[in-house]
Amino acid sequence: MFFTKNKVTKVVRFNSDSSNYICVQNSFNKEKWNLITKYYETSETPLIVECNNNHLISISYQQFMLGYGCEICNKSIDVNKFKSLVDKKNWKLFDTFQGPHIKMNFMCDKEHLFQMNYTDFIKDKKCNTCYPSIFNKN
Ligand SMILES: [Zn+2]
Ligand SMILES: [Zn+2]
Repeated sequence: MFFTKNKVTKVVRFNSDSSNYICVQNSFNKEKWNLITKYYETSETPLIVECNNNHLISISYQQFMLGYGCEICNKSIDVNKFKSLVDKKNWKLFDTFQGPHIKMNFMCDKEHLFQMNYTDFIKDKKCNTCYPSIFNKN
């Protein structure tokens, strides 16, 4: 990892047989996504990928690793329904929904603060303080 304030004019393009490309491809494959683009440049370069629901989308490796998920799948998530489920548990949500794997800040009914993503929330994962991890295995 490196950061530079100057604009990078020379971008290295990794072919599909390079280890960098294969490493990126493996990360997508782990989530049952397919990398369609046949080269890899930087973590910010948009790539064409197929999500686990066969949507063809453009996403950068960085966005993928941050958990943004597939934009088409995300649209099928009813954010209002999610918020009403949070209310039903008497939890509070302090962030806006950005993607199923992005952690959001919650407060449980016993006023414990913790982070959880949408996917874990839907799986009915509990507050870690109310339910210490030994009792909270998936
Ligand atoms: Zn999708
Ligand atoms: Zn709690």
